[in-house]
This record gives sequence, structure tokens and C-alpha cells, in this order.
Amino acid sequence: MNNIFQLSFILLVASSPLLAAPDKVAPSKPNILFIMADDHAWQAVSAYGESRHLIQTPNIDRLASEGIRFDRYLVNNSLCGPSRAAILTGTYSHINGFYNNTNCRFDGSQTTFPKLLRKAGYQTAMIGKWHLETDPTGFDHWEILPGQGRYYNPPMIRDGKPVTYPGYVTDVITDLSLEWLKQRDPSKPFMLLCWQKAPHREWEPAPRDLNFDHDRTYPLPDSLFDDYSGRGRAEHDQNMTIAKTMRMNEDCKLTAPKDLSAEQKKSWDAYYAPRNEAFLKQNLTGRALTEWKYNRYMHDYLGCVKGVDDNVGRILKYLDETGLATNTIVIYSSDQGFFLGEHGWFDKRWIFQESARAPLLIRWPGTIRAGSVNKDLVCNLDFAETFLQVAQTPIPDRMQGRSFLPVLQGTTPADWRKAFYYHYYEYPAFHKVRPHYGVITDRYTLAHFYAPDVDYWELFDRDKDPGEMRSVFNNPAYADVQAGLIQEVLRQRKQLKEPNKDDPKAFGPFDEWPVSDAPAKKVRNK
Ligand code: CA
Repeated sequence: MNNIFQLSFILLVASSPLLAAPDKVAPSKPNILFIMADDHAWQAVSAYGESRHLIQTPNIDRLASEGIRFDRYLVNNSLCGPSRAAILTGTYSHINGFYNNTNCRFDGSQTTFPKLLRKAGYQTAMIGKWHLETDPTGFDHWEILPGQGRYYNPPMIRDGKPVTYPGYVTDVITDLSLEWLKQRDPSKPFMLLCWQKAPHREWEPAPRDLNFDHDRTYPLPDSLFDDYSGRGRAEHDQNMTIAKTMRMNEDCKLTAPKDLSAEQKKSWDAYYAPRNEAFLKQNLTGRALTEWKYNRYMHDYLGCVKGVDDNVGRILKYLDETGLATNTIVIYSSDQGFFLGEHGWFDKRWIFQESARAPLLIRWPGTIRAGSVNKDLVCNLDFAETFLQVAQTPIPDRMQGRSFLPVLQGTTPADWRKAFYYHYYEYPAFHKVRPHYGVITDRYTLAHFYAPDVDYWELFDRDKDPGEMRSVFNNPAYADVQAGLIQEVLRQRKQLKEPNKDDPKAFGPFDEWPVSDAPAKKVRNK
């Protein structure tokens, strides 16, 4: 319907001698609105239908029912800064130089897709969580949280100047995004990055949402009490379990954050104080304590997701009301996945499915068939090239992803990737996950844990073992698969120009996350 209207308008304009020449009235390039959350697990997007049915996300799900849902969207390095750097540059960490969140600063002089889109006539803006340590480049307007930012009454940096906003961070980032959309130059296409902070640790929901789940008891994941048998030292040595690493105070909300206003604090205390009191009276230990922590974690994390979903709804409503929806590509994604108790963990980092895989939903009326579901291996490096192709702008050779525009149009190229290369570095901060690289295919995950003091491989057959609980590396039944995947990982390392020896700064400084219930004073909020 919209296309018919557009066509009649073009014909009308083109046939009028008083109006612009026909070459000036070609349909304008589509707008790009990229909403990204921080640490939003696909298990917590209802469109993915995860078995625990953790939450309903009707607004995010709209993008799937009116567009496409990607079931195998992967990131190159499952950590905030490195994934963002890969998205912006279309390159792996060893090319863009942003390996970890501890000692890397993004080199903003690099080629990024926002810079190229701006050159191609797009009006560009970045609003929300940036987390790349240097100021954004390539934007007509930017307004970012410093570092991790705060959930309540967040200070921000607006085009270089400090400002502070009252309210809840997800609402604030959405308000600022809508404000920018309203005042932009409507004669140009726009590219807006609306990058939310939520639901990042410490998972602090909007005060209005604290009772959103009515004290629900959440179903436990099968592997909450994983003993890591059948896997190597990296899995045994990590420091990211709900049982031992998750802190009672900040993470489990036995204390309130300091940045709450008096009114927000009142709502906070009204919710948490009686529940905390009841919890303390029970003197839980062992498994019962871990289950309580898991439940509190789900309440807080999903409360943050609810805030994100409601605000996605506000943005979609604005696009509907202004008619922008028809010519705007809306993307919803996350910088990586997240463990919601699987393997007993929170956080991300690993090549495993809960972490390396993230949600990706895209709506583009007239191009993407509504209700599409896609199982191709697409990745965070692909955004840059996709957007450049949409904008009909040349793609620099340096970029290492691939445009998935043909996939959006309904035809996956025959030579689309069959294995995706992954490489994680940061160690030992903050959760003592050992560096590893590997490949993910539609069925297998192959990983090499190579430092420090380890050198072993793991292979998982996700058809038979979807939770990646038991490595079949060196199992004779998988000899051919194993040999083929090792060859593939070595081929990709060469093709992607991976050095044989990592850059010394890749791991980050040796500074461990405090274990368990350490008081807040030494905590670095990464
Ligand atoms: Ca993140």
C-alpha cells in the first residue's frame, strides 16, 4: 500500500513541470534507527520463546512479527566495548585495537560506518551508552553516559559538555532520542544510534517497575548447579557464578544505590526493605541461598528489560504517528548475550550460546517480509557493511563482515558464511574467563583455550547437547568434524590477519573482581 502511494507521488511530482527534475525525486534513502541494549540476553526476549518464559516483551516482539527475527546472530568478542568497536568499524578486535574493557581506548580516527553515512548525506546521532573511553566521532550530535553510566538521575556528556538529567536512564535516553528526532533536518535521511544502558549489571529497574512480576518464582535453568565436569580448567576456574561471585549488597540489592533521589529511594525501600527483611530471617545457605539469589537476579534483570521494552514501544509509537515507520529500518539488538543462570553464571565473555549469541530483530516495511525467521550466521561486524550498502556507499576493504542486505530482501547468498570466528581476550579481570578463540557453526562450537597455563580444545555438538555441557573433542565419532573445524579456524585466522601472538595489551591488567560479598569500596563497575 505504501509503495503504491509513494509511486503515485513520484509520478505526480515527475509529471509536473514546476517541480524538481525526475532524478531528484527518487525515493529517499531509508532512515536507520539502531536501538541496542547492553547485555540483553535473547532468553529474555519473548519472541525467542525460551522455555522458562522469563518475560513478555511485546514491543520488541513487534519488530519480529512485522519484520525478521535472527536466530543465529553472533558477536566476535562477547564484551561491551569490544563488540561496540566491532559494530562501528566492521572489524575484529585485533584490527580495531579494542580488545577488552580494562585498558583499551577506542581510536576514533578509524573509519566507521557513522562517518561514511554522514558523508553519504545522512544526519547522524549517537545517544546513550557508548563505553569506548574516547569521545564519539562521525556524529552530527552525540550525548553519552560517561563510562558505564548510572541508572538513576544519570549524568551525561552532551556534545562534550556535562549535563545531568532527573529520572530513570532508559527513559532519559529515549526522551533524548525522541527530542533529536523531532528537531532533526527532515530533508535528510537519519541514522540514530539509541544505545541503552539497561539491563547491564547491577540490574536496577525503574522504581515504577519494582513490583512488575508480583513476586514471581522463576523456573530454574537446568544447569544452575553445573559442576563443569566434561570440560576443562577454564570452566572450573572462572569467577562468575551466582553462588560465589554475585554480591549480596549491590547485585542482590541488600543495599540501595547512592544515586536515588529521595522519592526514588522511598519506592525502592517500599519494595526491597520488607523482602530483604524476610530473606535475612530465613538464614538461607547452600543451594537454597543460590536459588534465592537467582530469583532476585531475575527480578532485577527482567525489571530492567521491562523498562527497555516499554521504551521501545514509545519509539515505535512515535514512528507510527509521524509516518516515519514506512521508510525507517528499525533494528533491535544487544552488544552481546548474557547468562541468566545457565552453568550457574551471570555475565558473558564465553563462546557459548548464551553469551556469543544475542537478539537481533529488524523491521523494514516493504523490504523485509513480516514474520520472517532466519537461521543464517550473521554477526556484529556485518552491520557496517549492511548500512553502507543500504546507503549505496562504497564499502572499505578494511571491513571484515559482510552485508546482509540480500538476507533482509529474502535471499541468502549461496556462499554465505558457514562458520563464524570468535575471539575473547580479557583476563583475569573481571571474571577470570581464560582467553579463547574458535568457530561457531549451525551445529558445532569449537574452542581453543590457550592462556595462561592452559592449552586445550573443546568441541560441542549442540544438536545433541544444546546446553554445551560435555565436550566431544577427541571423541573418535567426531574425528572428521573436529579435523574440518580446526582447519576452518586456522583458515579464518589467516584470512582475518590474526597475529600468532596476541598484542600484549589484549588481556588487560591483572586485577581481579572481588569475590562474593566484598564491600563496595573496591568494586569497579565494568
Ligand atoms: Ca554489554
